[in-house]
Amino acid sequence: MGCRACIAACHTENHLTPGSPWITAIEYERGRYPNARTVFATVGCMHCEDPPCQVACDGVGAHAISRNDYGVVIIDYDRCIGCRYCAAACPYGAPQYNHEVASLFPEGGADTPHTLQERHPTHRKRAGVVEKCTQCWHKLEPAIEAGRADLIGKEPRYTPSCDAVCPVGARIFGDLDDPESAVSRHVARKNATQIKKAYGTRPLVHYVLEGGDF
Ligand code: SF4
Repeated sequence: MGCRACIAACHTENHLTPGSPWITAIEYERGRYPNARTVFATVGCMHCEDPPCQVACDGVGAHAISRNDYGVVIIDYDRCIGCRYCAAACPYGAPQYNHEVASLFPEGGADTPHTLQERHPTHRKRAGVVEKCTQCWHKLEPAIEAGRADLIGKEPRYTPSCDAVCPVGARIFGDLDDPESAVSRHVARKNATQIKKAYGTRPLVHYVLEGGDF
């Protein structure tokens, strides 16, 4: 419904600076007057199975981008050299260069981290690196380590904050490898598609869009 609560939650959870959003909203019109309506969607990192950002990063020798066993593509800030080749390689505009340490939350930042995301060793907030969506890996990893991966996507503390706050359940997160998971069943039932402009990157994010793709 275009409320952008997911974007606000992402900024808060991940301590984002105003100039480096990890999710953006797009809107477009379907139909013709008087039966036209606005359709909303959000775009962020697609956590591609074949991520060109990683290829670009490896190409410059930084090796800061990796895809973990759970399909989450993560940038290691300790390795990132801020060259932004990943941003140029990503077809979805996901990687965001951070020009400044967080300014929205002056009590936080590199020296005094206070968000869960900042306490994650490889994601300590800092300027001069490229950032992007981590699917709130700092919230997923504790569930996995505790042997409670089954709670991911169900309990807010183990669920990406964008998904947890969506007031209309438009975002669904879970295990696509499990055919019985809510997200798998939803994808099958609703005939979800990957973004049309897949560019051969095999995105893990799927969309159910009224009127087709965008
Ligand atoms: Fe990399 Fe962009 Fe794919 Fe995310 S959407 S994994 S940043 S290429």
